Amino acid sequence: MVRRPQPVRLLSSSARTKFFKRAAASNPALGSHVKPDIKNLSFSELAAVLAERKQPAYRAKQIRQWLFQKQAMSFSEMTNLSRPLREQLEEAFTIGRLKTVRRAQSADGTLKFLFGLGDGAAIESVLIPEARRLTLCISTQAGCGFGCAFCATAILGLKRNLTGSEIVDQIIEASRTLSGGQRITHIVLMGMGEPLANYGETLKALEIISDGDWGIGISPRRVTLSTVGLVPQIQKLMEETHVNLAISLHAPTDELRGELMPVNRKYSLSQLLDCCRKLPIPRRKRITFEYVLLGGVNDSEQHARQLGELLQGIPSKVNVIPFNPHPGSAFSRPPAERIERFQNVLRDLGVQVNLRRARGDDIQAACGQLQGEAAGWRRRDGLAAEAV
Ligand code: SAH
Repeated sequence: MVRRPQPVRLLSSSARTKFFKRAAASNPALGSHVKPDIKNLSFSELAAVLAERKQPAYRAKQIRQWLFQKQAMSFSEMTNLSRPLREQLEEAFTIGRLKTVRRAQSADGTLKFLFGLGDGAAIESVLIPEARRLTLCISTQAGCGFGCAFCATAILGLKRNLTGSEIVDQIIEASRTLSGGQRITHIVLMGMGEPLANYGETLKALEIISDGDWGIGISPRRVTLSTVGLVPQIQKLMEETHVNLAISLHAPTDELRGELMPVNRKYSLSQLLDCCRKLPIPRRKRITFEYVLLGGVNDSEQHARQLGELLQGIPSKVNVIPFNPHPGSAFSRPPAERIERFQNVLRDLGVQVNLRRARGDDIQAACGQLQGEAAGWRRRDGLAAEAV
């Protein structure tokens, strides 16, 4: 008698259900009862969905134009698709949206958003109007796991990575608040989280942001990604995209940087700067080095000289950011003369320096002040913050 091979069962059916539930909980894009967000499908995944439904390939582009250019909120708006296809898509997918929990307007015009995600996590984005540009600062993670000593987001710890569509949805939701004719012109990945620790989803988002054919259509020249300095991912990013690179440096010696930024114990200053020297930076382009000035900690003339020397031979500019105080932080902002002197020493060494004005500091929207639903928003209830 021939014995038929028995199917191998790795898990009992109840264990399987549990496994999938857990997998879904840890990956919001795979919710078991929630339909997946169509914005999270890659081009080839979307093409496969359409091929299964006997649709021509160009529908993928049409659908993406609805999602990212016309920012459709329902499949029924997609009038160049047949009704049966719209219904099939509706059955299988959702068009996810961020929930705007709060908005706060600063006296200087900066607008801060608190967005709620499907699983209860929260993130922040900041819209910064300037003379000839409108910049949106977006988050790539809920919270952050890098533990920089002076940063408000670090207090939250890492909650989770955002999906590519959650990164892009911040731009879509912020755009909905603009009046006719206004358009976001620049994107900075400088909100909550470390973009290069969420590399895959950040790259998906960058593709959607930059594509002019079906995406949001903001040129990579107008996009800046800021990182704590993850060396391998920096190299990859510069090979795979054309976005501008900003590196949070904050100290000119390993000893001090290690105290302020624990990541320095993994990638030292010399590893980081060697990597920068070898990057394929096009002519006329520069790497931005961010340097938060912490009173009495990293703001002396000697620190400035050491910094200037470190950057020799790297096409660079330094963004000096006077520390933005936040509740629970022991650091302080140096006095104006000290900030001035620090910059002058750098300039004398031939370094290009910009001072970053604090924007939105009255609503805790300035650099590094973002910390979700923690102290910030509650304290200001009834002031500038508006519950939406
Ligand atoms: N994780 C990325 C991007 C997020 S932070 C990074 O670290 O680069 C964006 C910038 O704000 C970083 O340079 C960060 O060091 C700086 N920052 C954080 N807290 C700050 C604060 N309280 N005042 C001024 N800048 C701060």
